[in-house]
Amino acid sequence: MEFILDLHVHSKYSRGTSHSMDLENIYRFAKIKGIQVIATGDFTHPAWFNEIRKKLEPAEDGLFKLKNKLAKKQDKTLPAIIKKKSVRFILSAEISNIYSKGGKVRKMHNVILAPDFKTVSKINNKLSEIGNLTSDGRPILGLDSKKLLKITVNSNPLTMLIPAHIWTPWFSLFGSKSGFNSIEEAFEELSSNIYAIETGLSSDPFMNWRLDQLKNLTILSNSDAHSPLKMGREANILNCKPTYKNIIKTIQSNDKRMIGTIEFFPQEGKYHCDGHRKCNVVFTSEQTKKHKGICPKCNKPLVVGVNYRVGELADEKSNYKPKQHKKVEYIIPLLEILSELGGFKKPGKKVMRDYEKLYSVLGDEFSILRKVPIEKIKEAGFEKLAGGIERMRKGQVHITPGFDGVFGIIKVFENNTQAQKYGGQKNLFE
Ligand SMILES: [Zn+2]
Ligand SMILES: [Zn+2]
Ligand SMILES: [Zn+2]
Repeated sequence: MEFILDLHVHSKYSRGTSHSMDLENIYRFAKIKGIQVIATGDFTHPAWFNEIRKKLEPAEDGLFKLKNKLAKKQDKTLPAIIKKKSVRFILSAEISNIYSKGGKVRKMHNVILAPDFKTVSKINNKLSEIGNLTSDGRPILGLDSKKLLKITVNSNPLTMLIPAHIWTPWFSLFGSKSGFNSIEEAFEELSSNIYAIETGLSSDPFMNWRLDQLKNLTILSNSDAHSPLKMGREANILNCKPTYKNIIKTIQSNDKRMIGTIEFFPQEGKYHCDGHRKCNVVFTSEQTKKHKGICPKCNKPLVVGVNYRVGELADEKSNYKPKQHKKVEYIIPLLEILSELGGFKKPGKKVMRDYEKLYSVLGDEFSILRKVPIEKIKEAGFEKLAGGIERMRKGQVHITPGFDGVFGIIKVFENNTQAQKYGGQKNLFE
């Protein structure tokens, strides 16, 4: 059975996270989005772990479900077409590891997965000796990532540690500001326990395929959602019976059960390209190299982005594609397409009404974006949207990449010269 898996979200106990991120809403929006297995997030937080134990119960081996009474209450207010699908939870957390190693300050985020409450308790007990777990759903610990890996593996061999959003400049494995240059540098003799990395919003599989050291690892994409509407903005497609063990085995083996990932356009990230916001200079890595990293307008060093950092560690040229690789599907969230069509910067009341109508008539968001026939979307009264989704599915989108803190812009209809300059028409469904 093919299903969608999102392994990284945050609860209302994490800083900067919406108060509506409780288990009922995560369940509800997993159905609206079309996610079959969703992370609980934040199991290191004592209050959140209490809620998890109170509101969830064991379902299939190692996965959990919302207790019947609570689930029924949510289902009652959901349209028939989406309420019938089941939603399962997987126990997960994220740690912010800040420590010094090799004479440098390192800042790394790591996602961990666990199969049962007993294992979570063991991990939490250990971690609470190291730092404060109550102040943030994503705790900041002065703990070496390698030691965190040791703690999780020792607590239960079925746990998994996944380096999170590995390219973001400040808090990641390969981050240009305080990361490492290789997995071995970070995890040393325990590196063989790392089976997967998370691309993060700012990178896609194409970028990660360029590194030899990632060739034998599984590429995962998760939403890192801080609010219900952001759930599933990136996700994984697996084909197996959804149980905890099957999910772990699939990630470890990267075999045919791992179908691929659903991706955000990495150019949408605010540090994709290099440049200067003030000088209105946007450069590709090649242009930055040609100018020796210096802005031609103000003669100061350019702010280099994620793509440049990938180039520093890469063994292959950009756009390299292994002979055999997993499926890569790019999506634009439905609310963003609706906002573009309506000429709005952010989804307001009208966009939300259309969104609700769409999932009530056509089913969950992933089905609408990926599967529902274009004709059916037209028949539902969304002619223009149908055209937009058709273009998105064919990869005919217009990309204005982000740089120096400016978000990139992805549009299905509007063209502009910058998009052409950056070859925004590449085939996105290979
Ligand atoms: Zn993070
Ligand atoms: Zn996170
Ligand atoms: Zn400048």
